[in-house]
Amino acid sequence: MRGILGTLCVLSCSALALAKPLILSPLPLPEATVEVGQAAKKGWVVYEVRPGDTLAGVAARYGVDPRHIMWSSGLKTDRLQVGQRLLIPLVAQEDRAPRVPPGVEAYRVRPGDTLQSVASRYGVSVLDLVSANPSLESLDRLVAGSVLYIPKKVKGLVVALPEGQTLVDLAARFGLSPVEVARVNGLANPAELKAGDLVLLPGIQAKTTYQRLLAKQEAERQARLEAERRRQEELRRLAEERRRQQALAQGARQAQAQTQRASVKPQVRRVSYQEGGMRWPLSGFRITTYFGQRGAFQRYHTGIDLAAPYGTPIVAAKAGQVQVAGWSSYGYGFHVVVDHGGGVETLYAHMSRIAVRSGEWVEAGQVIGYVGSTGWSTGPHLHFEVRVGGVARNPLAYLP
Ligand SMILES: [Zn+2]
Repeated sequence: MRGILGTLCVLSCSALALAKPLILSPLPLPEATVEVGQAAKKGWVVYEVRPGDTLAGVAARYGVDPRHIMWSSGLKTDRLQVGQRLLIPLVAQEDRAPRVPPGVEAYRVRPGDTLQSVASRYGVSVLDLVSANPSLESLDRLVAGSVLYIPKKVKGLVVALPEGQTLVDLAARFGLSPVEVARVNGLANPAELKAGDLVLLPGIQAKTTYQRLLAKQEAERQARLEAERRRQEELRRLAEERRRQQALAQGARQAQAQTQRASVKPQVRRVSYQEGGMRWPLSGFRITTYFGQRGAFQRYHTGIDLAAPYGTPIVAAKAGQVQVAGWSSYGYGFHVVVDHGGGVETLYAHMSRIAVRSGEWVEAGQVIGYVGSTGWSTGPHLHFEVRVGGVARNPLAYLP
């Protein structure tokens, strides 16, 4: 622990007071920050994100729930950016882990898990899961590395016993018999329960939470549709702009050719890269969503989804120039756009890693990135688009 802490930006209260005008972090710092090198038991650590860090990884290193880092750092997503500052709430080392009721499994969320997928794997309903985890903030996104409680026998609301309250108080608040609550929770003596221990309240469902999350999900879906509409508009505008530029360049070339015509021998015509079809961007995949089909995040799917293992190399479907290589704020995650000339472009989204730079020339079959699940994605896959004049076309029409 000491080793890890030594390399971090840990603030002491006195240093904080002295360094106030320095603005070490845009985050409001809580009162009790800890001394450098001191065995940190309680307090806060300011951590600067380094390349390769994941929220789940950072959380695991400090033994905290990744969602607690999200809350204290004001993060909207669990994607980290290098250089970003996180505020990590430390938990006292000697505190015993909270008691989990028998028949409730503490499941560690893995990347790509959704509430629906976990629910079907365990044969419980989404409402059962929401009830056992009333602090969930979204029906769509689960934070990898966080703990999800799964009621495997008795279903009900799972809450932490509040400070200063007893099991009898809690049972009374929900109109339950304390004896029944003690029995379901496997407690011979309700007094052995401490504040923070989890209590299963049988038969109680977090319907309000569920309805609130459903409403939030719908609002997010609308926002995504709106973002998608704006993105399409922007793409049309860019394509228009590019066409204009190409027309200008063409005009300039023709003028130059005219002045040189007399002295220059007719050249062998170079085979244009606009000719010929495309090749599949992956080898070994399964098509999970077709063009035009309703996707997980879109009403109208603008490409095809090819499911393949995380890290599978993605190749350019055709030779061209890399137009875009980077992060998308529209849900494509790490993505690459290749311009094949003649207004034809291909797009490769949700990559775990990009292998090319913007402006670079790529040959058909050249590796341009690797399959991942970045952006609006629920599992490792390649979202592949073909656009002609800025309009998404069915990629299957261009593939062998
Ligand atoms: Zn897709």
